[in-house]
Amino acid sequence: MRALQLQEWKSDPVMVDVPEPDPRPGQVVIRVGGAGACHSDLHLMHDFEGGLLPWGPPFTLGHENAGWVHALGDGVTGLEVGQPVAVYGPWGCGTCARCRLGAENYCENPAEAPVPSGGGGLGLDGGMAEYMLIPDARFLVPLPEGLDPVLAAPLTDAGLTPYHAVRRSWSKLPPGATAVVIGTGGLGHLAVQILKATTAATVIAVDTRTEALDHALRNGADHAVTSDDGAAASIRDITGGRGADVILDFVGVDATLAMAAAAARTVGDVTIVGIGGGTLPLSFFSVPYEVSLQTTYWGTRPELIEVLNLAARGLLRPDTVQFPLDQATDAYHQMENGQLTGRAVVVP
Ligand code: NAD
Ligand code: ZN
Repeated sequence: MRALQLQEWKSDPVMVDVPEPDPRPGQVVIRVGGAGACHSDLHLMHDFEGGLLPWGPPFTLGHENAGWVHALGDGVTGLEVGQPVAVYGPWGCGTCARCRLGAENYCENPAEAPVPSGGGGLGLDGGMAEYMLIPDARFLVPLPEGLDPVLAAPLTDAGLTPYHAVRRSWSKLPPGATAVVIGTGGLGHLAVQILKATTAATVIAVDTRTEALDHALRNGADHAVTSDDGAAASIRDITGGRGADVILDFVGVDATLAMAAAAARTVGDVTIVGIGGGTLPLSFFSVPYEVSLQTTYWGTRPELIEVLNLAARGLLRPDTVQFPLDQATDAYHQMENGQLTGRAVVVP
């Protein structure tokens, strides 16, 4: 079968022919229905190098995946061939306290995971291929009735990651509160929808691109602010001088982090989701009183079930642009050149 592989750090992915996977006991092979193209893959191609992560190329890209059960290894119960499933992406050890709670994104025993601190498309073969090996049936979540795998695929990361970040700050988002989404691309446009579906907060979208801001407004944002030196002041104006209660930064460069610190309300949350490599000096007076600065990483399996539920009920709808497998590299080029709105999904 064809597969889009990253073969070495600091290189473009290439289409190769690889054998179709066979499930060993406890494993499952899915036929891929959709594999989302994430900006993290661009970081993998351009920014990372050996030694930074406990894994490396070669592997097939695609860490947000959904499809249909294709073959079951011995001993797998509770799944049927043909059943539509989403892949829970962060693969932990399955036995530590965090994994048992369904928070494999926080596995404390990564040496016992299928790959340490990675998953399919992150060290092991992912979904940019016709079939994908799932090393343990527990990584599959059955899709609710009526949810198409092409839409479910981006929900497993571009939906789950912002859902986890928003959920963590729910207590700071009562009616009257304001949330800011910096970077309204693949993750950010879903962050806007998730804020609208699960809180009564006013949502301000911030991006450098007019198309991304227009897209965020169509996805429910109340205000759109261009990301520049005046953005923090604009956010203060919109909030009557108070600042924003929760700021989610899906870019994570120096300029956006500084903007977030300058636009936050006292006791607010600033959450770094984007891995742009920026830093924010934190000291007593560098942020308004009692602002919490935090990172988030992906999400838990129970949260994925909640995200899929929101989507099945029409409360969350990824805006997707579909690419056939042999044009998957175009998806990355368009993302890199700022030509995409919403999420690119590769459909093998
Ligand atoms: P994307 O390319 O689809 O969207 C990024 C958006 O940010 C674009 O709309 C772009 O115009 C905008 N942008 C770029 N620079 C900006 C700036 N200075 N100010 C405001 N907006 C700006 O990317 P994506 O797939 O949504 O991923 C976003 C980030 O999240 C990436 O860094 C990715 O690696 C990261 N990520 C993190 C996690 C996690 O668990 N923490 C999970 C997935 C992705
Ligand atoms: Zn674990």
